[in-house]
Amino acid sequence: MLAYADAHADTFYEAALKGHDPARDDSPLHINLSRMQAAGQTLQVCSIFTPARYSKAEATAFAHGIIDCLDRHVAAHPGTLGKALRAADIAAKGPRIALIPWLEGASPLAGRLELLDEFFARGVRGIGLTHNHRNEVADGCGCKEPRLGLSEFGHRLVEKMEALGVAVDCAHLPQPAFSQVMALVKRPPCISHTGCRALVHITRNADDAMLRAIADRGGFVGIDFYPGHLIENAFAPGTRAASADDVAAHVTHALNLCGEEHVGFGSDFDGFEDTCTDLRHLGDLRNLEAALRARGLRDHTLERVFSRNLLAYLGRVLL
Ligand SMILES: [Zn+2]
Repeated sequence: MLAYADAHADTFYEAALKGHDPARDDSPLHINLSRMQAAGQTLQVCSIFTPARYSKAEATAFAHGIIDCLDRHVAAHPGTLGKALRAADIAAKGPRIALIPWLEGASPLAGRLELLDEFFARGVRGIGLTHNHRNEVADGCGCKEPRLGLSEFGHRLVEKMEALGVAVDCAHLPQPAFSQVMALVKRPPCISHTGCRALVHITRNADDAMLRAIADRGGFVGIDFYPGHLIENAFAPGTRAASADDVAAHVTHALNLCGEEHVGFGSDFDGFEDTCTDLRHLGDLRNLEAALRARGLRDHTLERVFSRNLLAYLGRVLL
């Protein structure tokens, strides 16, 4: 069976907010421990998402609350879960599923570089610079044009992230900030969860130039499983339902542009409710494998897409 690694899911955000337990099979979460084990999962990047209504100290406290929740679950299941803190933890994938806390949006840093040290000490090894809204780093993809690019704080943050070995994640990051980050980075950046704009024309999706820019720098692109990114007008009346084959279409497009070493999954599971019909939760992962095989992907490429590319990317970025 193919091993599986995922560059983005909101499971611990949901667990922290709603009290759902990923160790219970009857929880409504898309991802739970038994599904992770059945999927052959070796690594999960755990989104520490902070809603737009929180800023400054409130955003900082909210993010720490989600990491508290993640830490409680790691402590409760020491044989199954462990945090990956350094490149060696990624390379030496052991019997445990490696979890990596990852800020989705830099608002918990509240414009203060020293807070990066605090979050780093708690295991954060990647930061999505923005979510949809404006924060101290830049305007997000939900902001109207003309959008503000990378701030002075954003510049210094990216430099400090690279010095610490924290992945620079450009999901939700529109132009002009995206190009400014590409000009600034010296280490491989990523887009942890996205669709391809060539297939679904929304600002949230990465266009072909963005995908190539990430691959050119040795980075990683994770294709997500959210119908709104996968088919045009996904939730409009009369639109057909999205399926695992639509994920496969975006994966195939990204592979054609980026080459087979730079593409994988960033499911965004537990970050949305209306799923693809045959990719309702992690337990349906084999439907995605079947859809990719039906599009002609062979074992060596599937192994890369399902886990090796993300593990190799993190191995290049973490210190
Ligand atoms: Zn997101």
